[in-house]
Amino acid sequence: MDLDVWLTGGAALWGAAAGLLVPRAAYRFSVRPEETWRDRCPEGHLITGIAGGWLGLARCAACGGSVRTSSGSSRTSPGAPPEDGDAGEAVSGNAGRQTVSGDAGRQTVSGDAGRQAVSGNAGRQAMSGGVEGGPSGGEGRAVSGDAGCVVPTPGRAPASYGPSTPLLSLTTALVCAGLAFVTGARPELGVWLLLVPLGVLLAVVDFTVQRLPDVLTLPLAGAALALLGVVAAVPEHAGDWLTALFGALALGGGYFVLFLVNPNGMGFGDVKLALGLGALLGWYGWSVVFLGTFAGFLFGGLYGMGLVVVRRAGRKTSIPFGPFLIAGAYVGLLIGAYAA
Ligand SMILES: [Zn+2]
Repeated sequence: MDLDVWLTGGAALWGAAAGLLVPRAAYRFSVRPEETWRDRCPEGHLITGIAGGWLGLARCAACGGSVRTSSGSSRTSPGAPPEDGDAGEAVSGNAGRQTVSGDAGRQTVSGDAGRQAVSGNAGRQAMSGGVEGGPSGGEGRAVSGDAGCVVPTPGRAPASYGPSTPLLSLTTALVCAGLAFVTGARPELGVWLLLVPLGVLLAVVDFTVQRLPDVLTLPLAGAALALLGVVAAVPEHAGDWLTALFGALALGGGYFVLFLVNPNGMGFGDVKLALGLGALLGWYGWSVVFLGTFAGFLFGGLYGMGLVVVRRAGRKTSIPFGPFLIAGAYVGLLIGAYAA
């Protein structure tokens, strides 16, 4: 098969996998500025795991099996741990049909248990009789030291929280595949693929709480310039590091002026985001910087007008601009990479 086909497919797989990690991070980052990052699931269980609980699926083992009606998001997402077995049918959103293959006695409720009392868990659980499940399943996922926490029963699928994992995994996969398709086998593709999950995360967080955390925007700018600096030394690359640097300064500076002119129209987070996006766009030259910026304004404007038309917004309603900045930069990058 053609190399480009392999590249595109591989990029899609990478995006799908990386996208699985976006919802948990997005959930944790989606707080107002004065709040600390979320460290608990919507029902109060401590989020633990790799990298301080930042890396992982947006699923809470302790919540497992409880019915979550909001978005139907309790369905098993792709990449479910193998120990969940036939969880797909076990968690079809109906606790009554749930089968527990483990030993019910293992579901211990500590502390002020009675209240948390297994709201809608125990009573409705149907046992498939027998202890065939064995202890291998959920032990590792027991959340320790969290009072009032239900130790997960093996065989129950953890409940999802935050934005939809399948949706973000698919989105990230498509975004990565598109970049791989137009960039082809050039080294800068590695930079695009590494930064796409960060861009998706920023877009989701900004869309959710109208905020672009510094701990994401500044590393994006730093990583873009550093990685492109490396790529600039690799043969076969197309692009120029110096225009990437100037693109960062120009776009960051331009948005800083807009911010000074109308602080209510644009947040300072947008300015810091523009630094990173300017670097990415600048790699392929000034025309791409202009294209990506114009596309961002176009998308944001269309969205704002659309909101007004459906009367969900007045003329003064503030909309998150980051997602459109990012979408515009993506279009600019697609065109730049294709033309390069
Ligand atoms: Zn929970």
